[in-house]
Amino acid sequence: MIFHQLFDPASSTYTYIVADDTTLEAVVIDPVLEQRARDLQVLRDGNLKLKWILDSHVHADHVTAANALKIATGASSAVGEACGAGGYDQPLNDGDTLSFGNEQISVLATPGHTPGSMCFLWRDRVFTGDTLLIGGCGRSDFQNGDAHALYASITRKLFTLPPATRVYPGHDYKGRTDSSIGAERAANPRLAGTTEEDFVALMAALNLPRPKRIDEAVPLNRMAGPVAEGDTPWETLPPTLASRDLRCNDRALLVDLSDAWHYADGHATGAVPVAHDDYGRLKQLSAGCDKLYLICRSGTRSMLAARELAARDIHNVVNVAGGMQAWKAAGLEVIGKRANT
Ligand code: FE
Repeated sequence: MIFHQLFDPASSTYTYIVADDTTLEAVVIDPVLEQRARDLQVLRDGNLKLKWILDSHVHADHVTAANALKIATGASSAVGEACGAGGYDQPLNDGDTLSFGNEQISVLATPGHTPGSMCFLWRDRVFTGDTLLIGGCGRSDFQNGDAHALYASITRKLFTLPPATRVYPGHDYKGRTDSSIGAERAANPRLAGTTEEDFVALMAALNLPRPKRIDEAVPLNRMAGPVAEGDTPWETLPPTLASRDLRCNDRALLVDLSDAWHYADGHATGAVPVAHDDYGRLKQLSAGCDKLYLICRSGTRSMLAARELAARDIHNVVNVAGGMQAWKAAGLEVIGKRANT
């Protein structure tokens, strides 16, 4: 079993890297942006191939490294569908399983801390995010949290797992690393021997301060974290531009690498649709202009394509950061079926 529990002291967040012994395919759970170099080093040291990047929910206390690790490794990112986060590759729902090598992780929907919160079950252990903490649980007083739902998720879902199941939480503030379902059922002060009404009243009376980074973290995390803007840890990152700084003219061309239906839903005026892996066409287009701007839905495909073109010695390519999501957020002109949504 390949298992790493890593800690970010600034946010007291646990990040987990697990991998299949045979194929070395790996999964990272809840990576923290500021710790991405550490996580990449763990992957490199173990010769691991990252396949999945999972976030247990849209975090309010730290910024996810999902996009950053995706750019560095080519892995796919996933988060609960009910999170309403657009920047991930795959929406997760209860009962989904994700494979890596000969291993599988099962997805448990555990709404309450947030509506889209998920726990991940792997072998003898469950990664509980902010749903169940050691001797506690996540708060339910913001991001559409719901103490009734949290109580149900913990008592009717997590506590029905075998008592010996190891609990690996998303945070701990007292240096503890893990617990078990049996221990939490027996002694978690918020849950052991309490009724749903007791629990809801207790959660309502917590009066916790607002998370310091919530205004920065939540919008970024809804897009799976920064793609490139202000984030250039890797030498291979191609030139990047914010969408509001884009100026198309006779000598500059904007190409949209989104899927056809995303393109039809809403694209930038004048953007030329090209399949994201049609490097022959991209090369041809780059030869006919001074600057070739690449955009896509979330900014990831365009980043990967720009990097690939640079590797093919095509150097007039610029990635438009954050894709059409950032374009729309900046209030720039969009045409298409759902241009105004
Ligand atoms: Fe949280």
